[in-house]
Amino acid sequence: MRLLILVAAIPLLAEAADINREVLDQFREYTPEEFGQLLDRQRPAAVTPQLATAIRATLPNEGEVMRLTAADRQKIASLSAVLRAHGREGVYLVKVVDSTQARIGLHARFVLLVTRTALRILSAEQLQAVVAHEIGHEYVWVDYEAARTNGNSRRLRSQELFCDGVAILTLARIGVEPGTLTDALRLFEVFNYGNGAATESYSHPTLPDRADFGRQIGKWLNRGGSFAPAQANNKPVNQGGKK
Ligand SMILES: [Zn+2]
Repeated sequence: MRLLILVAAIPLLAEAADINREVLDQFREYTPEEFGQLLDRQRPAAVTPQLATAIRATLPNEGEVMRLTAADRQKIASLSAVLRAHGREGVYLVKVVDSTQARIGLHARFVLLVTRTALRILSAEQLQAVVAHEIGHEYVWVDYEAARTNGNSRRLRSQELFCDGVAILTLARIGVEPGTLTDALRLFEVFNYGNGAATESYSHPTLPDRADFGRQIGKWLNRGGSFAPAQANNKPVNQGGKK
């Protein structure tokens, strides 16, 4: 019986390895510095003020956490460094919402939703890592939505890894240890699935696959030579933590 299960798992393992390699190759084609420049060139325009107003109008009034602790506000303020690295400082609307789940998501390329639980369990640097992943989604937004519409699980998983790569590169750029992303993902997994949340295996690679991909991206960063986290601009900017 155990053998049968193992045999059935082999194609899935092979597919996961293929996806990891494919996405790694997308990065390895360039030096980290070149890849950063590529992102700078390919960055989509931020949502227009008109669109932002329209998106705001669709948001529910309930559920937003209005009273944040000083520690929460400090963590939110630390996001300036990652937002700035992608030209998104002052662009996103950051909302902390009440939920027992640890989740962070980017809605309509404009609203950065952070659950209070996520804010509580992540360190400032881990929060930066997960938000950098969410920003990564902007670069593959149209393709990701198409994969979702078409039910293309493989494509979704490869795009998730791409966003992990963007996040890790971003962390290096702002002087944060690249392994911080995996640490944050592990915390989410332990917390959410320990609480009985449904897994996201349809759209997301497993944690071991993401950790492995993260290690490979770390190696790629180290080989980057001229690339160094020279822009160590990871000091909190007094942005007046958003509500
Ligand atoms: Zn994602």
